[in-house]
Amino acid sequence: MHILLVQPQRFDPQPDVVAWGNSSNGEFSSKSAWLLTKNFTCTPPFESWNWVRNVRANPRIRNFIWLAALNRLKTKALLFLRKITQNDLCDICKTVCETMGHVLRDCCVAKAIWADVTIPSGFVVSFSLSPSSWLKSNCESKLIHCSGIPWSVVFPFTCWNIWLLRNKSLFNPDLSRAGDPITSTTKAFCPGS
Ligand SMILES: [Zn+2]
Repeated sequence: MHILLVQPQRFDPQPDVVAWGNSSNGEFSSKSAWLLTKNFTCTPPFESWNWVRNVRANPRIRNFIWLAALNRLKTKALLFLRKITQNDLCDICKTVCETMGHVLRDCCVAKAIWADVTIPSGFVVSFSLSPSSWLKSNCESKLIHCSGIPWSVVFPFTCWNIWLLRNKSLFNPDLSRAGDPITSTTKAFCPGS
């Protein structure tokens, strides 16, 4: 009887709305539904995207992070899904599907770069999160990198450099194996290393 008298608390004066969870704006589209049937979600669950606008990088890198978060980087996984390539395998690892998370984090080249850049100890654990959560949490980090630069600046810059190196290695396969992965990231942020 007492429970019936308790009024549910309203935190949001706005009425509830129905939102499609597989899009960035909550709108349904046949494309997003088709991608869902392929187990290839085009976006993380419906959520605020303000964090992308606040990425501490120039507009080009911010746009790159936006595409990565939306799973729209032109990875082999996406190109294969669009029937542009004959397989979805990473051209470096050869046996693993090249998703956004693989290219930027899990590929052997990416791992070498992250090791050289030195991940702040408080964010090592984030590298086991889902790729989209990994992107978001690191871009929102308040930690300072060993170089004295905010990790929220180093992180998107490093992702961008990994992507550039990946694209260059498509035309020059030796690049990914030549000990070049440090590129400008370490030189820029870890002078003297
Ligand atoms: Zn790989």
